[in-house]
Amino acid sequence: MANAVKGVIAGAKGAPVRVETILVPDPGPGEALVRIQACGVCHTDLHYREGAITNDFPFLLGHEASGIVEKVGPNVTNVVPGDFVILAWRAPCGTCRSCLRGRPWYCFASRNAQQKMTRQDGTPLSAAIGIGAFAELTLVAAVQAVKVNPAARPEAAGLVGCGIMAGLGAAINTGGVSRGDSVAVIGCGGVGNAAIAGAKLAGAHTIIAVDVDDRKLEWAKQFGATHTINSRQTDAVQAIRDLTGGNGVNVAIEAVGKPETYTQAFYARDHAGTVVLVGVPSPEMKIELPLLEVFGRGGSLKASWYGDCLPTRDFPMFIDLYLQGRLDLERFVSETITLDKVEDAFHKMERGEVLRSVVVF
Ligand SMILES: [Zn+2]
Ligand SMILES: [Zn+2]
Repeated sequence: MANAVKGVIAGAKGAPVRVETILVPDPGPGEALVRIQACGVCHTDLHYREGAITNDFPFLLGHEASGIVEKVGPNVTNVVPGDFVILAWRAPCGTCRSCLRGRPWYCFASRNAQQKMTRQDGTPLSAAIGIGAFAELTLVAAVQAVKVNPAARPEAAGLVGCGIMAGLGAAINTGGVSRGDSVAVIGCGGVGNAAIAGAKLAGAHTIIAVDVDDRKLEWAKQFGATHTINSRQTDAVQAIRDLTGGNGVNVAIEAVGKPETYTQAFYARDHAGTVVLVGVPSPEMKIELPLLEVFGRGGSLKASWYGDCLPTRDFPMFIDLYLQGRLDLERFVSETITLDKVEDAFHKMERGEVLRSVVVF
């Protein structure tokens, strides 16, 4: 049986999104039907609507969500109806070449539901990053539903499903920030500020926030930045060196995704330091760096996909840290909105007015 519910659809490249009635099948083998409670508006949703990811319109958007398991299909062992879950877009398969090497956070065959959600006329929908959670119900592979402590507020918990996890993980998992480190974060939107929160959690001594927007730098201080630099007014690389005894930082995190800011991160790190790229570049971007500097500075240049997270390990942990008052997830929730306000939220995001708009149901 299919369930008729409201969902946010991107029907054509660049066209405003619309709320439509969609059909969500009951779960088959290995699948779970989840009643969504909250879903954050992420840049990736906007990228889908712009046709910047694939051309498989129509898309059912939304992928940063928490909710309650409504029904499960046969052969599901990790969740039961009534469980409070965060949806993950990485659900390791266990059998790809990366999983077999013991590195499931790089899984190349992450699991998704087998059945398609559809429009009322039967047109199949492409679910954003295999989730599609701007909908009252969504269908996922049950292993995408990660059980966490139900004491968490859904609006805050859902954010761990994408952008906030990407930032926390860029600092902790990919960057390996640890006690006493110096860290710079370039770009202080949701992901960048989550990287700052992650660096603080990991015990970084100096956390330097860089942005061109003073409002974002104020947010950065609230998440744990010890210093802020407005790179419109100040040479960010020089300022970071000045704040670190002339050396640069141990870990430089680029949360913008542009060649100019990547170059800043590259030169702002100390010898043997680490650069982490978590900002998402667009296809035409290129970077040119002196190869001798790449060699001579040593260390490592890394990219962080989804914060190199392992959802079953990291989601419950970050929710527990939040419930203990050690990770301020609430502060990322700039506003809560209804399902019909997603298009407005895209514009607020483009204007840099919000860390996260979160749809609540
Ligand atoms: Zn795998
Ligand atoms: Zn996202």
